[in-house]
Amino acid sequence: MDICDLAPAYVRAIAPYQPGKPISELAREMGWEEAGIIKLASNENALGVSPLAQRAIQSVLADLARYPDGNGFELKQALARRYGVEQERIVLGNGSNDVLELSARAFLTPGLEAIYSRHAFAVYPLVVQAIGAKGIEVPAKNFGHDLAAMRRAITPDTRVVFIANPNNPTGTMVRAAELEAFLSGLPKGIVVVLDEAYNEYLPDELKADSFGWLRRFPNLIVTRTFSKVYGLAGLRVGCAFADPGVADLMNRVRQPFNVNSLSLAAAAAALGDHEFVRRSFELNRSGMKQITDGLEKLGIEFIPSFGNFVSFRVGAAEAVFQRLLKMGVIVRPIASYGMPQHLRVTIGLESENARFLGALKQALAA
Ligand SMILES: *Cc1c(COP(=O)(O)O)cnc(C)c1O
Repeated sequence: MDICDLAPAYVRAIAPYQPGKPISELAREMGWEEAGIIKLASNENALGVSPLAQRAIQSVLADLARYPDGNGFELKQALARRYGVEQERIVLGNGSNDVLELSARAFLTPGLEAIYSRHAFAVYPLVVQAIGAKGIEVPAKNFGHDLAAMRRAITPDTRVVFIANPNNPTGTMVRAAELEAFLSGLPKGIVVVLDEAYNEYLPDELKADSFGWLRRFPNLIVTRTFSKVYGLAGLRVGCAFADPGVADLMNRVRQPFNVNSLSLAAAAAALGDHEFVRRSFELNRSGMKQITDGLEKLGIEFIPSFGNFVSFRVGAAEAVFQRLLKMGVIVRPIASYGMPQHLRVTIGLESENARFLGALKQALAA
């Protein structure tokens, strides 16, 4: 007998998450120097790590023999001040993927259902399936969330609805008023996880008052991450904001020291580095224009994006992806998101964007 057969069928059926190809891996495969490769595949911050976060990390190094603060007091205090939210409402995670999983663990069991959109972030089906709950994928509308259809998909077994806003990999977003109406119109007993990983890339006028909504909707969980605009993807820090009772439940199912000391310190510092966030936002705005103008020039259709990435249609996406790899440019195939004809590119530095566009032109001519 195969020992693996002892694992529940729903665990055996999980399709592993497909991360962006690491620079080190391509360098190894090709026998190249890493310096000649650009990675625009995981929506990381092209500006690197905020200087304030770097300094904070240095200051913690001498203390690594100690366990981290399991309650993350200082980071929670910084988040609470920044967003006007009580600390009791905050849950910290080893990346926001961790808090997404905690929300599933707190509210789902085998037999219950969670709803998410087609082409939505791949972690939702993963965390739902890992619990043995049933994931309901609702067809998208113009690649974005169809909230009306998601509302209709709710059954008596539904407990959680995941919404990525803006969504990855499509870059689409639902307007605040529409979201608010959705929240107001839900039947009782449905938890809504609103994943705002790209919130900081939105112009102010498009940002929803999601923290204000927490008071009106105790069933709302808002998640944020330090992996994108704050430039700390490698450290893994994210957070959730929720009703204090919900936050308490999520804290009970998390590991006691799920966020390490370096991450706690770096995240608190990054949160206060307004200059870095502003530069990141500006770089993204100009880079988005550079890339979408370039795509238009090449006659390539793309999905207008509100994040720090854009998905574009090339037909034979896998072949184009491979050709780009051979030119040292890593982008992201998104066939596993149900988009086999698209590739997703992260907005990089001006020089990286230019190199990507040049390589793409060549790849399409091949
Ligand atoms: C990148 C991303 C995250 C962030 O995940 P972390 O675990 O915080 O790195 C969350 N949600 C979406 C939709 C993302 O694209």
